[in-house]
Amino acid sequence: MLEKNSNNFLKNKGILYIGILLIALGLTLFFLFHKPLPKYYEKKDFALGTWVRVVVASEKIDSEKLADIAFDEMKRIERKFSKNIETSVISKLNKDRSIIADKETLFLIKAAINFADLTGSAFDPTVGELVKLWGFDDMNSEKRVPSPDEIKAALPGVSYKFIKIDGNRISLLNDKTMIDLGGIAKGYAVDMAIHKIKDLDPNATGFIDAGGDIGIIGPKFGRFAWTIGIRDPDKGPYDIKEKVYLKEGAIVTSGNYERFFIKDGVRYHHLIDPKTGYPANYYKSVTIISDTAMKADAMATAIFILGDKLIGLDSMTRYGIQVYGITSDNKIIKTTGFDYYLKEEK
Ligand code: ADP
Ligand code: MG
Repeated sequence: MLEKNSNNFLKNKGILYIGILLIALGLTLFFLFHKPLPKYYEKKDFALGTWVRVVVASEKIDSEKLADIAFDEMKRIERKFSKNIETSVISKLNKDRSIIADKETLFLIKAAINFADLTGSAFDPTVGELVKLWGFDDMNSEKRVPSPDEIKAALPGVSYKFIKIDGNRISLLNDKTMIDLGGIAKGYAVDMAIHKIKDLDPNATGFIDAGGDIGIIGPKFGRFAWTIGIRDPDKGPYDIKEKVYLKEGAIVTSGNYERFFIKDGVRYHHLIDPKTGYPANYYKSVTIISDTAMKADAMATAIFILGDKLIGLDSMTRYGIQVYGITSDNKIIKTTGFDYYLKEEK
């Protein structure tokens, strides 16, 4: 009896020693190989006509420097493609009617034409004159409801078919045609800024939020999805209707609350139907998830404009996009695949 007890005692002591040894080994390994979680640096600045937030972390390069590089790139693109900056390529094209373009300009104009073609002109980069009539061309322009005659006069110039590309020459074939890349340039700028960051550190993580155009640099702490809120269009900017979880790619929302005015109780906003010349009213907002912010940007505008004219939303997934729309009568219309992004990873 006594012998058995002392045996047990020795055995327990042995287990205790092994336990302590394992804990010590574990702690040593932990301190040797454990990396602290990356610290996110955040920079907010005004660019592309909106407030832009860059949140970035890198183990290789100073995150502050990466954020500066991202902003430099976005501002470069704004200077080059804004129709409101006199020295931009787009101002030159609208003024001279025909220009010799560089590779990047050709790429962006061709991309815009491609989205116009794809969406039956719901997205159309030639809406410039219409956007100007409504006063949405510039923050300081007077917002007003144009007369039916003014709209009638501008409509014949609105069609991407009036953009002719011949080698590296871009020409506008109709005297009334005005190019406005406002529906695509912000997404392109976000993509390019992310490329700049990734060129310097492919493992950098974070995101860029350019007033509703969001591109993911990399998952949070290299592993987790970022949580992005889809805004409730009837409430303030911080009232969230739905949460989206995204590790890569881009998410862009076009909403009737971004730029608008109210006249005689009617809300008029900046997403203009190129066929009618008036703001489209089927949706309050359309959110698109895609691999690039440029595609998501153009398609959010297009689907917003198409409204109920788009039959079979799920067919849109063949373009590599997922859609979530809130209609004017508060119905949620979404592609089946969008649900995947509404579930938090457990
Ligand atoms: P925001 O710039 O507010 O995020 P969008 O990305 O949807 O919104 O782009 C809206 C801008 O696109 C407008 O300000 C205008 O310059 C331009 N735009 C308006 N209607 C159209 C359209 N049907 N097709 C292409 N661009 C458009
Ligand atoms: Mg857009």
